[in-house]
Amino acid sequence: DKIQEERLKYLTDQKGIKAVTVLFSDLEGRLHMLDYDKKFLVKSYDNLTFDGSSIRGFTAQRESDLRLGIDWSAFYFAPADYFGSGKVLVFGEVIDKNGAPYTGDMRGVLKTYADSLHAKHGYTLNAANEIEGFLFAGVNAEKNFPQTGRFDYVNTGGYYHSLPGDPLRSFIDTAAELQRAMGFENEKDHPEVAPSQFEINYGYGEVVAAADQIQIYKLICRQVATRMGMTASFLPKPVVGVNGSGMHTNVSISKDGKNLCWDPNGEEKISKFAWDFVDRILTHGNDICLLLNSSVNAYRRLDPHFEAPNQIKASAVDRGSMIRIPIGNEKSSRVEVRSVAPDSNPYLVLYSIFKSGLDGETATVANLRQAERYLPDNIYTAIENFRNAPWTTKLLGEDVKARYADLKQASADRCPRQLGTFVKPSEVQFH
Ligand code: GLN
Ligand code: MG
Ligand code: MG
Ligand code: MG
Repeated sequence: DKIQEERLKYLTDQKGIKAVTVLFSDLEGRLHMLDYDKKFLVKSYDNLTFDGSSIRGFTAQRESDLRLGIDWSAFYFAPADYFGSGKVLVFGEVIDKNGAPYTGDMRGVLKTYADSLHAKHGYTLNAANEIEGFLFAGVNAEKNFPQTGRFDYVNTGGYYHSLPGDPLRSFIDTAAELQRAMGFENEKDHPEVAPSQFEINYGYGEVVAAADQIQIYKLICRQVATRMGMTASFLPKPVVGVNGSGMHTNVSISKDGKNLCWDPNGEEKISKFAWDFVDRILTHGNDICLLLNSSVNAYRRLDPHFEAPNQIKASAVDRGSMIRIPIGNEKSSRVEVRSVAPDSNPYLVLYSIFKSGLDGETATVANLRQAERYLPDNIYTAIENFRNAPWTTKLLGEDVKARYADLKQASADRCPRQLGTFVKPSEVQFH
């Protein structure tokens, strides 16, 4: 097609570009990067293969060879000072040996779903994520945590508090600058409520690009922090006693350029369409919790005393509710899902939110939006809910559902030994 042609020509013409980094994510959302020589890629982009056997969640098949397609629309410039000279980034599409999108590649699943909705109803799915993280002293702070038993803050500032020259401020400035260089439309950035915590906000985008941007955001933050001798951590609750890190996921749906969530006369100024969407997500709140909170540590964050939700409710104000309706206007009207952790697979998060909201069921529970229903408070309950729910089979299919649940079960069972993902109160020091 046209974009492919343009981008191939660009790669060929730009003599400075030597290599193309192809990005894809495993079932748990870990980002993988494969560098291809540019000349080779330009010749062989339709015949790229890789060994899927060591990619987590990809290996149920007997043959481990998979194909990699290129999504030419998901093309990013890679600033040389951080990525090495002469590189561009592009997202790949994992394809099985019969040429079909690989079922374990959630980016492909999300894209197929978004495309089908566009073809069927003319919908465009939009998302904006508010990704919080911590900046800790020293490189590899997460890896070293089991030995040291502590994370060291790099500043003690607090909400919106940042002085020029402060390490957290310098980190945010550098990360934001790199984001702009890579095409993000930055909006605002600030130190968050907990010491040494940050959030860098950028504009919403079409759902697949928004998920790609989550992966790039985390990559950039980690790169910048490492370069500064620090660690950017997206653990949902690394330090007990202060706020954790969320990834509030703001979603809206538009058609013919019109935001379908907006209704100035609707309850909280959102439309019946949007409320129906909310009701279906609430109905499946327990079923999909594991997909939005996919680590042992994520369940430590879900505590309303720290502005994180624990209830399957919708509210305009209450930050203990999993869904909030932010104030907005015709352009920004949206639904905010707050029960999302930044260490989950962004493709799975967005797929399960949109698919549950649009194709799910509505419970016949009285007062669904305000009923006393709680999110699971530990991963074992979340795994059980996920396994028992007919809805998650419809979402993912038997095979991927089982593989995902098994991976999560294994990570939970490993935890007592992996302190970095299982922070017991007694193991975290205050400082
Ligand atoms: N850190 C909170 C959370 O875990 C959010 C706090 C905020 O954005 N004001 O969701
Ligand atoms: Mg925010
Ligand atoms: Mg925030
Ligand atoms: Mg928010």
